[in-house]
Amino acid sequence: MHPVHPIPIFEDNYVWAIEFGERHVAIVDPGLAQPVIDYLERHQLRLGAILITHGCWDHIGGIGDMLAYHRVPVYGPTHDRVPHLDHMLAEGDTITLGDLTLQVLDTPGHRKGHISFYGDDMLFCGDALFSAGCGKLHDGSYAQLYQSLNKIRCLPDKTQVYCAHEYTAANLTFATLVEPENKDLQRYAEQVYALRAAGKPTVPTTLGLECSINPFLRYQSATVKAAVEQWAGAQLGSDLEIVTALRKWKSSLA
Ligand code: FE
Repeated sequence: MHPVHPIPIFEDNYVWAIEFGERHVAIVDPGLAQPVIDYLERHQLRLGAILITHGCWDHIGGIGDMLAYHRVPVYGPTHDRVPHLDHMLAEGDTITLGDLTLQVLDTPGHRKGHISFYGDDMLFCGDALFSAGCGKLHDGSYAQLYQSLNKIRCLPDKTQVYCAHEYTAANLTFATLVEPENKDLQRYAEQVYALRAAGKPTVPTTLGLECSINPFLRYQSATVKAAVEQWAGAQLGSDLEIVTALRKWKSSLA
Protein backbone atom coordinates (compact mmCIF):
# COMPACT_ATOMS: atom_id res chain seq x y z
CA MET A 1 0.00 0.00 0.00
CA HIS A 2 1.24 3.50 -0.82
CA PRO A 3 1.34 5.91 2.13
CA VAL A 4 -1.09 8.80 1.69
CA HIS A 5 -0.88 12.05 3.65
CA PRO A 6 -3.72 14.53 4.26
CA ILE A 7 -2.78 18.21 3.90
CA PRO A 8 -5.60 20.44 5.21
CA ILE A 9 -6.28 23.70 3.34
CA PHE A 10 -8.99 26.35 3.61
CA GLU A 11 -11.84 25.58 6.03
CA ASP A 12 -12.35 21.90 5.34
CA ASN A 13 -10.50 20.73 2.19
CA TYR A 14 -7.96 17.91 2.14
CA VAL A 15 -5.20 17.82 -0.44
CA TRP A 16 -3.95 14.23 -0.63
CA ALA A 17 -0.24 13.43 -1.11
CA ILE A 18 0.23 9.88 -2.45
CA GLU A 19 3.75 8.51 -2.10
CA PHE A 20 5.35 6.60 -4.94
CA GLY A 21 8.90 5.55 -5.83
CA GLU A 22 11.66 7.22 -3.83
CA ARG A 23 9.73 9.69 -1.64
CA HIS A 24 7.95 11.22 -4.58
CA VAL A 25 4.34 12.29 -4.18
CA ALA A 26 1.38 12.81 -6.45
CA ILE A 27 -0.66 15.74 -5.13
CA VAL A 28 -4.43 15.52 -5.55
CA ASP A 29 -6.47 18.75 -5.96
CA PRO A 30 -4.11 21.48 -4.69
CA GLY A 31 -6.57 24.32 -4.18
CA LEU A 32 -3.76 26.26 -2.51
CA ALA A 33 0.00 25.73 -2.98
CA GLN A 34 1.87 27.08 0.06
CA PRO A 35 0.59 24.63 2.71
CA VAL A 36 1.39 21.78 0.30
CA ILE A 37 4.90 23.05 -0.45
CA ASP A 38 5.54 23.56 3.29
CA TYR A 39 4.37 20.00 3.98
CA LEU A 40 6.63 18.53 1.28
CA GLU A 41 9.67 20.43 2.56
CA ARG A 42 8.99 19.52 6.19
CA HIS A 43 8.68 15.82 5.32
CA GLN A 44 11.38 15.75 2.63
CA LEU A 45 8.95 14.59 -0.04
CA ARG A 46 9.43 15.44 -3.70
CA LEU A 47 6.66 16.65 -5.95
CA GLY A 48 6.22 14.10 -8.75
CA ALA A 49 2.83 14.85 -10.30
CA ILE A 50 -0.41 16.78 -9.82
CA LEU A 51 -3.77 15.02 -10.17
CA ILE A 52 -7.02 16.97 -10.55
CA THR A 53 -10.54 15.56 -10.12
CA HIS A 54 -12.54 18.60 -11.29
CA GLY A 55 -12.37 22.31 -11.99
CA CYS A 56 -13.78 23.94 -8.83
CA TRP A 57 -11.50 26.73 -7.58
CA ASP A 58 -10.82 25.03 -4.23
CA HIS A 59 -9.29 22.07 -6.12
CA ILE A 60 -7.23 23.88 -8.80
CA GLY A 61 -6.30 27.30 -7.35
CA GLY A 62 -2.77 26.23 -6.36
CA ILE A 63 -1.69 24.48 -9.57
CA GLY A 64 0.17 27.49 -11.02
CA ASP A 65 2.15 28.13 -7.83
CA MET A 66 2.94 24.41 -7.44
CA LEU A 67 4.37 24.39 -10.98
CA ALA A 68 6.42 27.53 -10.26
CA TYR A 69 7.87 25.64 -7.27
CA HIS A 70 8.59 22.51 -9.32
CA ARG A 71 7.53 21.71 -12.87
CA VAL A 72 5.75 18.32 -13.00
CA PRO A 73 3.08 16.76 -15.22
CA VAL A 74 -0.54 17.72 -14.46
CA TYR A 75 -3.25 15.08 -15.00
CA GLY A 76 -6.93 15.97 -15.03
CA PRO A 77 -10.34 15.71 -16.65
CA THR A 78 -10.91 16.11 -20.39
CA HIS A 79 -14.42 17.47 -19.87
CA ASP A 80 -13.90 20.21 -17.28
CA ARG A 81 -12.08 23.55 -17.31
CA VAL A 82 -8.72 23.01 -15.60
CA PRO A 83 -5.65 25.18 -16.30
CA HIS A 84 -2.11 23.82 -16.90
CA LEU A 85 -3.23 20.27 -17.88
CA ASP A 86 -0.63 18.15 -19.70
CA HIS A 87 -2.69 14.95 -19.69
CA MET A 88 -6.43 15.03 -20.43
CA LEU A 89 -8.09 11.97 -18.91
CA ALA A 90 -11.39 10.11 -19.09
CA GLU A 91 -12.81 6.69 -18.17
CA GLY A 92 -10.56 3.87 -19.36
CA ASP A 93 -7.32 5.83 -19.11
CA THR A 94 -4.60 4.59 -16.77
CA ILE A 95 -1.74 6.60 -15.33
CA THR A 96 1.51 5.14 -14.09
CA LEU A 97 3.75 7.05 -11.68
CA GLY A 98 6.71 4.86 -10.70
CA ASP A 99 5.21 1.91 -8.83
CA LEU A 100 1.77 3.56 -8.58
CA THR A 101 -0.88 2.75 -11.18
CA LEU A 102 -4.26 4.48 -11.11
CA GLN A 103 -7.29 3.97 -13.30
CA VAL A 104 -9.46 6.90 -14.28
CA LEU A 105 -13.21 6.67 -13.63
CA ASP A 106 -15.73 9.17 -14.95
CA THR A 107 -17.74 10.29 -11.91
CA PRO A 108 -19.91 13.18 -13.14
CA GLY A 109 -22.66 14.77 -11.06
CA HIS A 110 -21.09 17.42 -8.82
CA ARG A 111 -19.49 18.58 -12.09
CA LYS A 112 -20.27 17.02 -15.44
CA GLY A 113 -16.54 16.52 -16.13
CA HIS A 114 -15.60 15.14 -12.69
CA ILE A 115 -13.20 12.16 -12.67
CA SER A 116 -11.84 9.93 -9.89
CA PHE A 117 -8.60 7.97 -9.57
CA TYR A 118 -8.72 4.34 -8.47
CA GLY A 119 -5.92 1.86 -7.78
CA ASP A 120 -4.09 -0.10 -5.06
CA ASP A 121 -7.42 -0.31 -3.13
CA MET A 122 -7.65 3.50 -2.97
CA LEU A 123 -10.21 5.85 -4.50
CA PHE A 124 -9.53 9.58 -4.85
CA CYS A 125 -13.00 10.85 -5.55
CA GLY A 126 -12.78 14.62 -5.07
CA ASP A 127 -16.30 15.91 -4.43
CA ALA A 128 -18.16 12.95 -6.00
CA LEU A 129 -18.61 11.11 -2.69
CA PHE A 130 -18.07 12.20 0.90
CA SER A 131 -18.23 10.17 4.06
CA ALA A 132 -21.98 9.90 4.88
CA GLY A 133 -22.84 12.14 1.92
CA CYS A 134 -22.11 13.18 -1.67
CA GLY A 135 -21.30 16.37 -3.56
CA LYS A 136 -24.11 18.70 -4.55
CA LEU A 137 -24.83 19.32 -8.21
CA HIS A 138 -22.97 22.20 -9.89
CA ASP A 139 -23.36 21.60 -13.61
CA GLY A 140 -24.00 17.84 -13.65
CA SER A 141 -27.37 16.06 -13.65
CA TYR A 142 -29.17 13.80 -11.20
CA ALA A 143 -28.84 10.93 -13.67
CA GLN A 144 -25.06 11.42 -13.78
CA LEU A 145 -24.90 11.58 -9.98
CA TYR A 146 -26.86 8.35 -9.68
CA GLN A 147 -24.70 6.55 -12.24
CA SER A 148 -21.50 7.70 -10.54
CA LEU A 149 -22.70 6.62 -7.09
CA ASN A 150 -23.71 3.27 -8.54
CA LYS A 151 -20.29 2.88 -10.15
CA ILE A 152 -18.47 3.71 -6.89
CA ARG A 153 -20.80 1.42 -4.89
CA CYS A 154 -19.68 -1.54 -7.01
CA LEU A 155 -15.98 -1.16 -6.12
CA PRO A 156 -14.62 -3.58 -3.46
CA ASP A 157 -15.68 -2.97 0.17
CA LYS A 158 -12.04 -2.68 1.25
CA THR A 159 -11.49 0.37 -0.99
CA GLN A 160 -10.13 3.31 1.01
CA VAL A 161 -12.12 6.40 0.06
CA TYR A 162 -10.12 9.65 -0.01
CA CYS A 163 -12.66 12.42 -0.44
CA ALA A 164 -11.70 16.07 -0.67
CA HIS A 165 -13.63 17.59 2.25
CA GLU A 166 -14.09 17.09 5.98
CA TYR A 167 -17.90 17.18 5.83
CA THR A 168 -18.54 13.96 7.75
CA ALA A 169 -20.03 15.36 10.98
CA ALA A 170 -22.43 17.66 9.10
CA ASN A 171 -23.39 14.84 6.72
CA LEU A 172 -24.20 12.57 9.66
CA THR A 173 -26.99 14.91 10.73
CA PHE A 174 -28.78 14.24 7.45
CA ALA A 175 -27.90 10.52 7.37
CA THR A 176 -29.38 10.17 10.87
CA LEU A 177 -32.54 12.01 9.81
CA VAL A 178 -32.96 9.47 6.99
CA GLU A 179 -32.09 6.38 9.05
CA PRO A 180 -32.44 7.11 12.79
CA GLU A 181 -32.52 3.38 13.62
CA ASN A 182 -29.37 2.41 11.70
CA LYS A 183 -27.05 0.93 14.37
CA ASP A 184 -23.93 1.12 12.16
CA LEU A 185 -24.67 4.79 11.64
CA GLN A 186 -25.08 5.42 15.38
CA ARG A 187 -21.78 3.67 16.11
CA TYR A 188 -19.99 5.54 13.33
CA ALA A 189 -21.37 8.90 14.51
CA GLU A 190 -19.84 8.37 17.95
CA GLN A 191 -16.44 7.62 16.39
CA VAL A 192 -16.68 10.66 14.13
CA TYR A 193 -17.60 13.07 16.94
CA ALA A 194 -14.69 11.73 19.04
CA LEU A 195 -12.24 12.15 16.12
CA ARG A 196 -13.43 15.70 15.45
CA ALA A 197 -13.27 16.61 19.13
CA ALA A 198 -9.62 15.46 19.03
CA GLY A 199 -9.01 17.54 15.87
CA LYS A 200 -8.40 14.43 13.74
CA PRO A 201 -9.57 13.72 10.17
CA THR A 202 -12.47 11.30 9.67
CA VAL A 203 -11.23 10.31 6.23
CA PRO A 204 -10.19 8.13 4.51
CA THR A 205 -13.23 6.00 5.06
CA THR A 206 -13.86 2.59 3.50
CA LEU A 207 -16.45 1.76 0.91
CA GLY A 208 -17.73 -1.14 3.00
CA LEU A 209 -18.46 1.23 5.87
CA GLU A 210 -20.03 3.82 3.56
CA CYS A 211 -22.35 1.19 2.11
CA SER A 212 -23.66 0.61 5.64
CA ILE A 213 -24.11 4.28 6.67
CA ASN A 214 -24.18 6.63 3.65
CA PRO A 215 -27.77 7.17 2.44
CA PHE A 216 -26.51 8.09 -1.04
CA LEU A 217 -25.09 4.56 -1.43
CA ARG A 218 -28.08 2.95 0.34
CA TYR A 219 -30.85 3.84 -2.11
CA GLN A 220 -31.74 0.14 -2.38
CA SER A 221 -32.38 -0.13 1.37
CA ALA A 222 -36.06 -0.35 2.32
CA THR A 223 -35.61 2.11 5.20
CA VAL A 224 -33.96 4.76 3.01
CA LYS A 225 -36.66 4.31 0.34
CA ALA A 226 -39.46 4.63 2.92
CA ALA A 227 -37.93 7.76 4.49
CA VAL A 228 -37.37 9.53 1.21
CA GLU A 229 -40.85 8.60 -0.07
CA GLN A 230 -42.32 10.09 3.07
CA TRP A 231 -40.36 13.32 2.50
CA ALA A 232 -41.38 13.43 -1.18
CA GLY A 233 -45.00 12.54 -0.41
CA ALA A 234 -44.97 10.09 -3.32
CA GLN A 235 -43.95 6.56 -4.25
CA LEU A 236 -40.59 6.46 -6.01
CA GLY A 237 -40.26 3.79 -8.65
CA SER A 238 -36.57 3.73 -9.49
CA ASP A 239 -33.16 4.04 -7.83
CA LEU A 240 -32.61 7.22 -9.85
CA GLU A 241 -35.79 8.75 -8.40
CA ILE A 242 -34.68 7.84 -4.88
CA VAL A 243 -31.20 9.36 -5.31
CA THR A 244 -32.73 12.48 -6.90
CA ALA A 245 -35.18 12.94 -4.01
CA LEU A 246 -32.43 12.28 -1.42
CA ARG A 247 -30.19 14.92 -3.00
CA LYS A 248 -33.07 17.43 -3.17
CA TRP A 249 -34.05 16.67 0.43
CA LYS A 250 -30.51 17.24 1.72
CA SER A 251 -30.06 20.43 -0.34
CA SER A 252 -33.38 21.78 0.98
CA LEU A 253 -31.95 21.69 4.52
CA ALA A 254 -28.63 23.37 3.78
FE1 FE B 1 -14.62 21.12 -3.23
